[in-house]
Amino acid sequence: MTINVGSFELLNTHIRPATRCTIQLDLGKIGGHSTSVEIINGRNPGPVLCLTAALHGDELNGIEIIRQLMQGIDPEIFCGVIVAVPVVNQDGYHHKTRYVDGVGDLNRSFPGDQNGTCCQQMAYTLFTEVISHCDAVIDVHTGSSGRENLPQLRVDLSIKQNEVLSSGFSRLSIIQSNPPRGSLREASSLSGIPALVMEIGGSQGVEPEKVLLGVEALQALLGSIEMTAVPPFDPEFQRVYYGGGWIRSEREGIFIAKACLGDVVQAGDILAEIIDPLLSTTYRVEAPLHCTILGRSHNQYVGQGTGLFRVGIERVPI
Ligand SMILES: [Zn+2]
Repeated sequence: MTINVGSFELLNTHIRPATRCTIQLDLGKIGGHSTSVEIINGRNPGPVLCLTAALHGDELNGIEIIRQLMQGIDPEIFCGVIVAVPVVNQDGYHHKTRYVDGVGDLNRSFPGDQNGTCCQQMAYTLFTEVISHCDAVIDVHTGSSGRENLPQLRVDLSIKQNEVLSSGFSRLSIIQSNPPRGSLREASSLSGIPALVMEIGGSQGVEPEKVLLGVEALQALLGSIEMTAVPPFDPEFQRVYYGGGWIRSEREGIFIAKACLGDVVQAGDILAEIIDPLLSTTYRVEAPLHCTILGRSHNQYVGQGTGLFRVGIERVPI
């Protein structure tokens, strides 16, 4: 990572050492989309770390994680710079939806286009004005509507810098994952900026226990890359998952989960029931193999093909 010394400049603003500030950034020419960029420039030199949340506007845990983390930082004893954009998609945030203007998925629009759609313009501005000036990116998400995720990091471990970055996060599980096309994570990686996604909980609400876990994980990261003096943690608790995927519904009906996030299940274990109240039938969902439950649908009506459980296969440490 590069080392920032003295004043830090971003968005035509000089931020003196040992200070913090908030800058408004207009993200696009269409629709007047703007957002707040919060910056802490530490007294001492160090890397420039970017934190983003709510690219999907209804994913609230990350907003609160960043707020609590930033509040707890003393710029006088901090090394380097944090550039935080806690509510990237303010339109979705205000309308309680994942999307921009009801249809556009911002996290499938990177690296963006200054003359493109609204989402592409927002992605372009965020990437060129903010992300490209940072040494690493942590993008915080939650499960999409009707789903929840075990707190986890999604990382392309084939990139050494990503692997090093992910090893700094306390006990959060690591899932090998190639970035989705058009995601901030993909665009950052293609530009040589280490990037990973922290997935934590579900959308629409704020989950205080998971928020605290996310804050502690980021505090551990700050210590591991020597931006703060947090003592190192024992990395043996960090589980790494490869392979896996979705277990999808073969029936329609009311899904009632029996397995919980983090459960380690064996082939044939009963994970859930799908009840058809019209035919008075109960269908049992079984685990197809030995795996860990990393994501789960809420108990709700499901159709054929609906993703019920996202599972992973743990890599056993050698
Ligand atoms: Zn998301």
